[in-house]
Amino acid sequence: MRRDISTLIEQMTLEEKAGLCSGLNFWHTKAVERLGIPSIMVTDGPHGLRKQDGNSDHLGLLNSVPATCFPSAAGMACSWDRDLIYQVGVALGEECQAENVGVLLGPGVNLKRSPLCGRNFEYFSEDPYLTSEMATQHILGVQSQGVGTSLKHFAVNNQEHRRMSVNAVVDERTMREIYLTCFETPVKKGKPWTVMCAYNQVNGEFASQNEYLLTDILKKEWGHDGFVVSDWGAVVDRVKGLAAGLELEMPSTNGYSDRKIVQAVQNGELAEEVLNDAVGRLLDVIFRAVDNAKPNATVDLEAHHRLAMEVAQESMVLLKNEGGILPLPTERKIALIGAFAQNPRYQGGGSSHINPTKLDNVYEEMCKVAGMGDVQITYAPGYSLEHDDIDDAAVQQAMNEAAAADVAVVLAGLPDRYESEGYDRKHLRIPANQQQLIEAIAEVQPNIVVVLMNGSAIEMPWIQSVKAVLEGHLGGQALGSAIANLLFGRVNPSGKLAETFPMKLAHNPSYLNFPGEGDTVEYKEGLFVGYRYYDTKQIAPLFPFGYGLSYTTFEYTNLTVNHTALTDQDTVTVQVHVKNTGTMAGKEIIQLYVRDVESKVIRPEKELKGFVKVDLQPGEEKVVSFSLDRRAFAYYNVELKDWHVETGDFDILIGKSSRQIELEQRIHIESTVQVQRIFTRNSTFGDILRDPYGAQIAEPLLRKFREQSGLGDGLEQDAPEMMLAMMNDMPIRSLLAFAQGAFTDEMLEGLLMQLNASRVHAS
Ligand code: BGC
Repeated sequence: MRRDISTLIEQMTLEEKAGLCSGLNFWHTKAVERLGIPSIMVTDGPHGLRKQDGNSDHLGLLNSVPATCFPSAAGMACSWDRDLIYQVGVALGEECQAENVGVLLGPGVNLKRSPLCGRNFEYFSEDPYLTSEMATQHILGVQSQGVGTSLKHFAVNNQEHRRMSVNAVVDERTMREIYLTCFETPVKKGKPWTVMCAYNQVNGEFASQNEYLLTDILKKEWGHDGFVVSDWGAVVDRVKGLAAGLELEMPSTNGYSDRKIVQAVQNGELAEEVLNDAVGRLLDVIFRAVDNAKPNATVDLEAHHRLAMEVAQESMVLLKNEGGILPLPTERKIALIGAFAQNPRYQGGGSSHINPTKLDNVYEEMCKVAGMGDVQITYAPGYSLEHDDIDDAAVQQAMNEAAAADVAVVLAGLPDRYESEGYDRKHLRIPANQQQLIEAIAEVQPNIVVVLMNGSAIEMPWIQSVKAVLEGHLGGQALGSAIANLLFGRVNPSGKLAETFPMKLAHNPSYLNFPGEGDTVEYKEGLFVGYRYYDTKQIAPLFPFGYGLSYTTFEYTNLTVNHTALTDQDTVTVQVHVKNTGTMAGKEIIQLYVRDVESKVIRPEKELKGFVKVDLQPGEEKVVSFSLDRRAFAYYNVELKDWHVETGDFDILIGKSSRQIELEQRIHIESTVQVQRIFTRNSTFGDILRDPYGAQIAEPLLRKFREQSGLGDGLEQDAPEMMLAMMNDMPIRSLLAFAQGAFTDEMLEGLLMQLNASRVHAS
C-alpha cells in the first residue's frame, strides 16, 4: 500500500516522533493509532525464532514459543552452501510470518578474531568473504518472505568480555578489509531492513553514537536505506546517537529517552530534520513489515525439522578418519559413550537460545539408523555435564562397554557453562572429565570415533588416541539424525572448517591482546586474523581453515583463466575441473584464494575470494567457475580512502583448504587508477626511482649531479649493488649533508617542485 510518509511525519507531534525512536517494550515498536501507524515486533534470531509471549528478557533466560532450531552460524558456515543458507532464511521467514514477527534479529556477522569469544558459535567465520556470502544468503532468504532482518552487531564487536564498555582499537585498513567487509557485502547485496549497532566502542566512540560508522559508512557510502536499531541497552547518549544515525533504541526506556529527544529539539541541540529523517526510515520499515505480513500463515514444522537435519549434515566436518574407520559398518557392536548422547548440546546460550519444536536424541537416532543392519549399541554416560570432576565409576562403566564393543563412539565437547553470550572462554580445552575419559577408553579400545559438540575451536591433545573425529558444532534440533546418518555413511560428510583450529591457543594471533587491558582492546595483529596469520607465519595448525574430509576423493585438473594479462577494470573468469575419483557420491567445496605476489603494502599470504560446492557421483566430473572482479585483488588504501589494485602479478590458487593448494596460475594486472603521491625531502631515493614518473624526472638529474660531484664514484665502480642498496633507503635531503655543498637546498626544492608539479601519475 502506498503511503505518503512525509505527510505522516508532518502530521506527527514532536512527542510522537521522539516516541517512535524507542521501543514500546522489549520487542515492539510504538504505534501512533490516531495516524494509523502500527506497532511491529522485532525479535531474535539468528538461527531460530525466539518469540517471547509473556515475560521478556534479552538473554534467553525466559522461554519462548516453539520454533525450529537450525544449527548455529558457526556450523552453518561450514556447509559453504549458499543455497542451503538461503533455504534456512526462507524457513525462518515463514516461521516469523506465522508468529507475526516483522524483523528477525540476525544474522550475526562479527568476525572470529579469537577462538575464545563466547559468542563465536553465533558468528560465521574468521574470514570476511565467507562470512559475507553466508550472511547475504541468510538475509535474502528471510526477506524473500516479507520479513526484515537485522545485520548485527555493527561493528568490531569480537569479544564478550566487557562487551558493553570495551573500546576496540583497530587501524583503518584492518577495519575495512577484515571487520567491516563482513557487513559491507551483506548491506549492499542483501539489503537488510535494519542493522543493529554493537555495544562496544570503536576507536574511542560507542558504536551506538558513532557517526563515522552509522552515517558516513553505513548510510552514505554503502547506501543502507533501512534503520539502525541499538543492541539491547547499548545507548549511551540518546541525542548524540540519534544525530549519529541510530534511529531505534531498544528496549523501551519508559519515556526517558523520548523526553531527552524532545528537549534537545526544543532547545536547538538537535535539528528537527534529523529526527524527521529518522522517523522517515522507521516508518518505511514498519510499513514494509505491515504490508508484507501474512496474517494466516502456517508452517510445516516437520519439513523445517528435515531441513535442519540436512543443514546439520552439510555443516558437520570430518576432521580425521584413520584407516577409513568411518563409515561404520552396519554389523558391529558399538559403545556409545558420553552424556551428550542423551543431552546433546545443540545450540548456544544467550539471546539466540530458542525453544525447539523437537529434539533428536543421539542415542535413539543411532539405534534407528543402525536398526537397518545388525548393529548393537550400548550406552554409558562416562562424565557429568554439570561439573568437571572425574567420576571413576562412570569412567569404569564406559571402559567396560568400550572394551566389549568393536568400536567406541565418544561424544565430547563444550557444555553450556563453557561457552555463551555474555562471557568469553578462558582456554580451548574440553572439560577434564571428558579428556580423561577419552584417554581411559583408549587403553581398552583402539577404535575410537569422537563426535564433537562445541561452538568454536578447541585444542585436541588427545587426537593421537582416537581414529576419527567428526566436528558436529552446535548442530540444531536435528543433530542426532545428522550424526547417525554421517557415521553410518548414509550421507557423505561435506563440511569444511570456517575457522582454523590452532594446535594451541598461544598460536592464535590475538593471543597477546585478548581480551585487552581494562576497557581497551588493541587489535595489534592487524590484518593477520585466522589463516591470514597462520599461513603467512607458516605456523602449522591442528586443522586449517577450509579443511574437511569426505568418504570419497576428489581430483582437480585443468585450471584455466580467461585472461592472464588484464587491467583492474576486467573481470577474470577462472575454471577448474573437479572429479569424484572415489566410490561414493559426495560433495566438494572448491576454494579460490588470491595471493598478491609483490606488493608495496603488507598483505596476507593468501585470501579467500571464491568458493563453490558441487555434488558429484562416483566418476563424475564437473567444471566449476569463479568470477573475480577488482575487489578480489584489492587492498584498502587509506590515503585514497578506497580499494586499490596495485599493478603487478597475482597468483590464483585453487585449494581443498587454505593449506592444500592443488592448482595455481599467475596473472598480471595493470592498475588504471591514478594515485597522487607527494614527494617530500624525506622521500627516499628508492621511493622516487621506483616510481615511473619519479624516475623519469629524477634519474637524469641525479646522474648529472653525480657526474659533476663525483660522489660515490669508488663504490659505484667497485660495488654497484652496495651503492644501490645503500641509496635505496636514504632520504633525498641526505644529499645536502653528504654532497659537501655540491647539492644545495635550492636544488633540492627545485627537484621536489618538478617531481610534484604533475602530482598525478600512474601507480
Ligand atoms: C544481544 C543481541 C540480541 C538482543 C536482543 C543482546 O544482548 O547482543 O544479539 O539481538 O540482546 O535479545
